Amino acid sequence: MSPLSKEIWRLIGLLSLAFIIGFVSGQILASLLVALSIYLVWHLHNINRLAKWLSKPGKFHPPEGQGIWSEIFDRIYHLQKKNRDRKKKLAKYITRFKESTAAMPDATVVINRYDQIEWINKAAQENLGLQPSKDVGQHLSNLIRHPAFIRYLTVKDYQTPIEIPSPVDKLQQLNIRIIPYGQHQRLLIARDITRLKRLEEMRRDFVSNISHELRTPLTVIHGYLESMQDDGSGNLSDWHNNINMMLSQSNRMQNIVNDLLMLSRLENEEVKRGTRDEVPVPSLLYTIKEEAIALSADKQHRITLECDNELGLYGVQNELYSVFSNLVFNAVRYTPKGGEISIRWYQDKNGAHLEVKDTGIGIPTQHIPRLTERFFRVDVGRSREIGGTGLGLAIVKHILERHQATLRIKSQVNRGSTFICDFPAEAIILFPQQSVMKV
Ligand code: ADP
Repeated sequence: MSPLSKEIWRLIGLLSLAFIIGFVSGQILASLLVALSIYLVWHLHNINRLAKWLSKPGKFHPPEGQGIWSEIFDRIYHLQKKNRDRKKKLAKYITRFKESTAAMPDATVVINRYDQIEWINKAAQENLGLQPSKDVGQHLSNLIRHPAFIRYLTVKDYQTPIEIPSPVDKLQQLNIRIIPYGQHQRLLIARDITRLKRLEEMRRDFVSNISHELRTPLTVIHGYLESMQDDGSGNLSDWHNNINMMLSQSNRMQNIVNDLLMLSRLENEEVKRGTRDEVPVPSLLYTIKEEAIALSADKQHRITLECDNELGLYGVQNELYSVFSNLVFNAVRYTPKGGEISIRWYQDKNGAHLEVKDTGIGIPTQHIPRLTERFFRVDVGRSREIGGTGLGLAIVKHILERHQATLRIKSQVNRGSTFICDFPAEAIILFPQQSVMKV
C-alpha cells in the first residue's frame, strides 16, 4: 500500500472513531471537529520539525516520524545522503585534479570564456610569473603580453602551439598550447623547452661548423685531383679510372657540404625585410629551363615552360632560384630517357603557383610525407648514382617556409610526379609585360 493510501486509511479510522464517540455522546459534529483539529495539529507539528531539521545543515539524522511523515523524513534523508556522497566524490576528484596538475612540471592555467584566469598551478607561478592571490580573475592578455601570444589567444586557432620567451626570464623558452574543454573553458599548458632549444642550436652549430671545417680540405683535395686528372706526363695513366672515381666522390662531398651550409644558413638567418626583392620569376625560369635542357643532354626530354610573364614575386632571388632549379633538376634526374617535363608559372585567386610535372619514375605514396626530411631518398643507390645529396627538398621546404609558401606533391609510381609551390597572393608583384608565353 502506498504511504498516501495508508494515511487516508488512518484519517478514515480517526474520523470513524470520532463518529462513534460523538454518536455515543450525542455530539457527532463536535467530536469530528476535535478529531480533525488533532489531526491538523499533528501535521503542523511535523511540518515544524521538518523545517527545523532542514534549517540545521550539520544535523544529518531525521527526526522520528509516524505515518506519512516517517516516509517523508526517510526520503529526504536519503536524498540528502546521496547528494552529500556525490559532493564528497566531486570534491575528491577536484582535489585529485588539483594535486596532479600542481605536481605537473608544465605550467597549467584554466581560463574562462572571457580570457580570465580561473586557476593556476605551481609551475605557472614559476614559469609564467602568475600569482594565485592577485591574478585569478585577471585577463590573461594583461599578464602575458607577448604579441605572438596575444594573437594566439585572440585568433582562437589552437592547432599549432607557439613558442615564446617566458615573461619571467627572457632566456627561458616556452612552448604554449591552449586546449578547449567543457563549456567555453580552456586549459593553457606551457612547457619549458629551453634545453631542447639549446640542443637544437648545438646541433645546428655543429653541422654548420663541421661543414665549414670540411670545406677547405675538400677544395684542396678536389684541386689536386683535378690537376692529377689533367696530368699530361703519362705517369698517372694507370690511375686514370681511380682518379676519376675520387673526383666524382669529392664532387659529391662538396655538394653535400654546400647543401648543409645552405640549410644551416636558412635555419639560422631570419629573412630581413631589406633582403627581399622584386624577383622576376619568368626570367629565372627561362634560365632554369635552358640549364635543364643541358642537364637532360642525351636523355632527350621534352621540356616545356608555360609562363605568365607579368608574374613576379616579392622574395629572395637566389633562394627562389634554388627552389625552382631543385624541383626542375629533380624532374630531369628522375625521368627516364624521352620523358616529358612541363613547368607552369601562373596565378589564380589563391596566389601564384609554380608547377613542375614529369613523366618519371614517380614516388610510392607512403614516402611522399617524408621527402622533405634531410637525407631522405626513396632509393639511396639511385640518388647517389645521379649525384643527389638527399638535401634538395629539405632546402626547398625551408626556403618556401621563409616565403610563407607551401609545397604540394602528387605522384604515381611509373607515371610521374607533380611538385607545386603555392605562394600567397600578398607575395605577388606584377611586371607590366606581354602575358602568357609558351616555349
Ligand atoms: P636528392 O638529392 O636525392 O634528389 P632531394 O631532397 O632532392 O634529394 O629528393 C629526395 C628524394 O625524393 C630523392 O632521392 C628521390 O627519391 C625523390 N624525388 C625527388 N624528386 C623526384 C621526382 N621528380 N621524381 C621521383 N622522385 C623524386
